Amino acid sequence: MRIAPGATIGILGGGQLGRMLALAAAPLGYRVHVYAPENELVAAEVSAHCTRAAYEDREALAAFAAGCDVITYEFENVPAESVAFLSALKPVRPGAEPLDVAQDRLSEKRFVTGLSGRTAPFRAVDTLDELQAALVELGTPAILKTRRFGYDGKGQARIEHASEAAGAFAELGGEGLILEGFVAFEREFSILVARTPEGDEAHYPACLNHHRDGILAETRLPAEGLSAAHVEEATALVVRIADALGYVGVLACEFFACADGPLFNEMAPRVHNSGHWSIEGAETSQFEQHIRAICGLPLGPTGLTAPEVVMRNLLGAEIDGWADILAEPRAHLHLYGKREAAPGRKMGHVTRLST
Ligand code: AMP
Repeated sequence: MRIAPGATIGILGGGQLGRMLALAAAPLGYRVHVYAPENELVAAEVSAHCTRAAYEDREALAAFAAGCDVITYEFENVPAESVAFLSALKPVRPGAEPLDVAQDRLSEKRFVTGLSGRTAPFRAVDTLDELQAALVELGTPAILKTRRFGYDGKGQARIEHASEAAGAFAELGGEGLILEGFVAFEREFSILVARTPEGDEAHYPACLNHHRDGILAETRLPAEGLSAAHVEEATALVVRIADALGYVGVLACEFFACADGPLFNEMAPRVHNSGHWSIEGAETSQFEQHIRAICGLPLGPTGLTAPEVVMRNLLGAEIDGWADILAEPRAHLHLYGKREAAPGRKMGHVTRLST
């Protein structure tokens, strides 16, 4: 069903992704209603309506749904039950199932391997015995991760030697964990695909990601050094994932590039930091594309607008360099309006286009 311009789009989550979605919805004539519990909601500052309430508050969710024509999310730890509740009231795109799969690293990896995708070797870990057995099977180094609520390298511990197992196990809470074999990857890249309710799809060129301390630092296109066959294989997998989930919206998947092909690392059922370059660097930004997809509009083209595009995140005090960035003729500055520049916090980004 097409949601025509003039309608109201509900967004669960109030951070920078919601802010950039709202900014992309405006030129298409949509109004945005943000729903999130936090005090600081940088998305609400550029939106027509805001509800500040807990994600579990059924009364507030029902009132929010009543005022929206379609609902989406920009935050992947919204309880899947709340999304299922909203789905009975209004279309929620993407729906509860992609969220449910992506919220748990174990179900995510099982889902992807079920679609013939390759991942790092992994084992579910709920006891120290299981961890020790998994370390024998997968070897060291290995990475122990929480199955849920990990982000930006949080909720992970690298295990160099079996003697570190007990410490890492306790540090991560001792249950609901997954052990992954360490991947000696050559590069990291993401693939973003958009899908409409009718199943029309558009995919973006692969982008190379560089992480520092587990946080995305830089995204770069074109993805030099990636073989076209590996990009094709990864893109085909993301399309299979989107089709299997009946996905609607932008889906981002991160991959490790290895000599023998791409390994799926994780998916985000939403617009993604590694797609920020597309605001100026692609013919249609990931944010506009997501709005088009969830409203059932035709998808836009995804080609690059410059020979080279580089997006850098501005973390913490790095935003203090804003005046210098603005003085560069081919730099595009985005500040998210967050009040506290805590170390490592994503405060903004800059995209530079080559001539
Ligand atoms: P994640 O939260 O799973 O995306 O992990 C954050 C970053 O840690 C990744 O982008 C990689 O740089 C690194 N990493 C995560 N898992 C592995 C792995 N199994 N082997 C090697 N590096 C990893």
